[in-house]
Amino acid sequence: MNSELNLRPLAIALAVAAALATATIVTVATALPAYAAEAATTEPAEPASKPWLDKSLSADKRAKLALDAMTQQEKLGWVLGHFGADFGNKTKKHPAALPFSAGYIPGVPRLGLPALFETDAGLGVATQLSKTPRERTSLPSGLATTATWNRELAYQGGAMIGKEARASGFNVMLAGGVNLLREPRNGRNFEYAGEDPLLAGTMVAQQVKGIQSNNLIATMKHFAVNDQETGRFVLDARLDDASNRMSDLLAFQILLEQANPGSVMCSYNRLNGVYACENDYLLNQVLKKDWGFKGYVMSDWGAVHSTVEAANGGLDQHSGWEFDKSAYFGGALEEAVENGHVPQARLDNMVFRILHAMFDKGVVDNPVKEGGAIDYDAHKLVSQADAEEGIVLLKNTNSVLPLKAGVKKIVVIGAHSDVGVLAGGGSSLVYPIGGNPVPGIEPTIWPGPVVYHPSSPLKAIKARAGGAKVVYNDGADPAAAAKEAADADVVVVFAQQWVGEALDAVSLALPGNQDALIGAVAKANPKTVVVLETSGPVLMPWVDQSAAVVQAWYAGSGGGEAIARVLFGEVNPSGHLPTTFPVSESQLPRPKLDGDPKNEKQRFTVNYHEGAAVGYKWFDLKGLKPLFPFGHGLSYTQFSYSGLAASQKGGKLQLSFKVTNTGAVKGKDVPQVYVAPVGAKWEAPKRLAGWDKVELAPGESKEVSLTVDPRLLSMYDSKSKTWRVAQGGYKVLLAHDAGDAKATSITVQLPKQTLNVAGQPTK
Ligand code: BGC
Repeated sequence: MNSELNLRPLAIALAVAAALATATIVTVATALPAYAAEAATTEPAEPASKPWLDKSLSADKRAKLALDAMTQQEKLGWVLGHFGADFGNKTKKHPAALPFSAGYIPGVPRLGLPALFETDAGLGVATQLSKTPRERTSLPSGLATTATWNRELAYQGGAMIGKEARASGFNVMLAGGVNLLREPRNGRNFEYAGEDPLLAGTMVAQQVKGIQSNNLIATMKHFAVNDQETGRFVLDARLDDASNRMSDLLAFQILLEQANPGSVMCSYNRLNGVYACENDYLLNQVLKKDWGFKGYVMSDWGAVHSTVEAANGGLDQHSGWEFDKSAYFGGALEEAVENGHVPQARLDNMVFRILHAMFDKGVVDNPVKEGGAIDYDAHKLVSQADAEEGIVLLKNTNSVLPLKAGVKKIVVIGAHSDVGVLAGGGSSLVYPIGGNPVPGIEPTIWPGPVVYHPSSPLKAIKARAGGAKVVYNDGADPAAAAKEAADADVVVVFAQQWVGEALDAVSLALPGNQDALIGAVAKANPKTVVVLETSGPVLMPWVDQSAAVVQAWYAGSGGGEAIARVLFGEVNPSGHLPTTFPVSESQLPRPKLDGDPKNEKQRFTVNYHEGAAVGYKWFDLKGLKPLFPFGHGLSYTQFSYSGLAASQKGGKLQLSFKVTNTGAVKGKDVPQVYVAPVGAKWEAPKRLAGWDKVELAPGESKEVSLTVDPRLLSMYDSKSKTWRVAQGGYKVLLAHDAGDAKATSITVQLPKQTLNVAGQPTK
């Protein structure tokens, strides 16, 4: 990796580390509340019976019974979380926390209530700040999983990482990231699920269900509008209520409805002037009242700024308090309750919510134990299956792919593809089994290290190349690489973009000399296939010179195998983009990213003026043609659609159509339905309203039926807090992607309909 790629993240890492260090001067001795010290002398007796442990009772009842049996000190213990690793030189990890873990909340053994052991995150079991990390299975990135458009695979991935979390002694998984991709440069896009609220909400819901099937609490995060990393601790995201409900919030709402995560993590940023973790509108009004969330809100690590405002604003648990200026939910909260600034009922409700999640998800009834057996071979295959379906074939001129038998020379170039596949950085990083094959790349400290999963694309290509000679070139010298490539039958160039938490990509250009490298190689040999290992969209000035482009994202533990299987046609690609790839940054709502990465303390505003017109909706609205549209993805076969028909049942629009494999090989397709009003005014021309993933043999057809969520046919009205479907004609488009000029369409007439804030019909 070249120096340009490395310097900026390193500078930011240092700035972030410095900011955090100055913000955290509190020591354990001075900041811990009085109850911690008194606990030994005032320990109450074990009760004669523990009716809350009766599994036949509802979570509501059990939580109430347990709460009633608690002392005030025990209650206070649940709302203050501790970091699971030493925090610089300032504080030592809580002795009972699992080593190098994200967090710990002591239990109440007297009442049979276990401690909470928290681990990051959405790609698998992560390790915080350790030289001897846990080595676990990593899923491909969240965007890769979303690109499968396959609900079942998302569930399986969640179930797998949840199993590893449980076997590692954790009962809370900080996984469930669903921030909408408004900003393609966002350094955490790889943890999330793209730009469309229906797709993102649905896919992450499946993952959360999978995780919680292991009797764990999962965490929907980062709530809300935490859509860029630059200035995340201070920025004020401006977005009006109606736009928010139809975009960012809708993704969270769908996830919540479909998967019911036990916890929600409020984010670092401010929303319309108020920090998310003390934001009454977000936490009390939207989440708890409008959506009926019954679990608890935990803060992000370092996202709390107050005691009274945060408690009354809806925060239930202060996570990793060491990251904040003070233990706000420690002694200060105890005092605030005594003084009446925070009602006792509010503290009781905080604890009730935590207990409710613990009973509801099976955390109390199924205690975790560290050291469980993990079947890494089987888990790698789960990750690989996900990666295989998430890989998107963006371009394939003259069917250069799949690679054909009988070639004599294949040249493989760049991105350390001889040893592994890239991973994204930050708290979600899952350390690879077998270690990092390319150690020492900057940044080596937070949000680094830069890590590769040791699943080598080169090795996997060699294993499938038959008699062909496979030559590797590291790509450092474009001229030398081009020379090596010139006489090859086919060239596969790997290109990469490392990003991580706490920073954003400087630009959407591939870092360093990679554009020059690809340009030189493609010029020397037109049969050049480019494989992209990037967080999200990148610019492709060389796209017309290349024969094929394969989007492989961060491909996870089995990534090298997955890529090779797609290149050789063992897997017919079926991934589709969960986000628009722009031609240039000038097409974006914010051509230049807001904020200054070198000055992370400077407050600033990000005005989300595009409102709910995120991603393809923005491109439609502005009449812009992207490089590759949302939903795009090629196959080694072709699919055709016919018979699109609509009906209405119980106030819901139902659609059916037929998909046929018209090509010569078996494959999977993602038919997509978009809706658009003919007469009424929307915030954007069209919206994704449904899809399916269907596998078809050559010549085979299948009927698909979909029901459209009426919210996707509505405009949200903030004043009346209702979703309104206007009476009139609606265009239903059956398309291969959001830019499909040949989409089939019909027009349906819909009656006027009003839905409540939760999306349910009202009279
Ligand atoms: C991240 C969260 C993460 C937490 C605990 C924060 O920096 O924003 O996503 O869960 O740390 O590690």
